[in-house]
Amino acid sequence: MANSKFEYVKQFEQPDSLLPNTWIVVRLDGRGFTKFSTKYAFEKPNDMRALDLMNAAARSVMSELPDITIAYGVSDEYSFVFHKSCTLFERRASKLVSTIVSTFTAYYIYFWPIYFKDSKPLTPPLPSFDGRAVTYPSVQNLRDYMSWRQVDCHINNLYNTTFWALINKGGMDGTTAELMLKGTFSADKNEILFQKFGINYNNEPEMFKKGSVIFREYEMVEPETTKNGVEKEAEKANTAVPEVKSKSQLEKEKKARTKAKIVVEHLDIIRDEFWERRPWLLS
Ligand code: ATP
Ligand code: ATP
Ligand code: MG
Ligand code: MG
Ligand code: MG
Ligand code: MG
Ligand code: MG
Repeated sequence: MANSKFEYVKQFEQPDSLLPNTWIVVRLDGRGFTKFSTKYAFEKPNDMRALDLMNAAARSVMSELPDITIAYGVSDEYSFVFHKSCTLFERRASKLVSTIVSTFTAYYIYFWPIYFKDSKPLTPPLPSFDGRAVTYPSVQNLRDYMSWRQVDCHINNLYNTTFWALINKGGMDGTTAELMLKGTFSADKNEILFQKFGINYNNEPEMFKKGSVIFREYEMVEPETTKNGVEKEAEKANTAVPEVKSKSQLEKEKKARTKAKIVVEHLDIIRDEFWERRPWLLS
């Protein structure tokens, strides 16, 4: 195989390794899931089985790739975050994206009969996902990315919940419902839900309102409010980490990650509290 006259074609491969020391986000999204969700009669606006299936697939991706720090999912999309120190596949974008997307897709199809046991089995065209990698140079940028996805989840879910209430409970057709919601603010939609249908949006399931966040669970830090100044300073001293981690430090962390329990939660990831109480995520 080596040194054949054909080997020169290897030179045509373009390097695609991602900028060092930046947070890598790989986001995947279901291809044509508007149609797919109709084919398998997803409940509108939120099919719980479909969301649980997405979460199960994402959880399996996380356990197969210990380099992933945290993942966030909503609807037919999932974002996976690699720590800025990650060197998996020499940070090659195509390797990272294709591995995540194919692992996720394989598990999505593997788990399908478990989560959709009363539904018809999958038939072609089978579900597939696209993927992309984006790098973020600062923790602030990364957190803004996560906040962006969660805000999107909130806005879409409030809209969809109201839209489908108007149709399913209010007997409207899609066009009329769309017209009614045109130009409305969040407060108006909350009002419509409550006045017309007695639905308090706050009581909707957390998974629908906040999406799903998956991470490795270690011992949490006390909430800010219960700590005094001395405790806070001591903590800073303990959690201050050098910019570049040693090889043995990285190995140690990897072992701990492989053993840690992976949890799926539906929490606010926009506010500081989530990150402050779980300092291992961004350190
Ligand atoms: P594309 O291939 O461009 O992503 P798409 O049809 O998948 O096209 P999206 O913007 O990704 O478009 O939208 C996802 C679609 O899947 C929406 O129509 C959404 O209602 C539907 N969907 C995804 N998850 C669920 C769910 N759990 N319950 C009900 N519908 C869902
Ligand atoms: P990497 O993740 O880096 O690709 P790898 O173990 O998959 O690691 P490859 O260079 O892709 O390494 O080699 C594929 C391996 O799978 C080889 O060891 C090859 O012998 C084995 N393999 C693939 N297809 C077959 C097959 N049809 N029959 C027997 N062995 C196979
Ligand atoms: Mg899309
Ligand atoms: Mg999609
Ligand atoms: Mg989508
Ligand atoms: Mg090969
Ligand atoms: Mg191979």
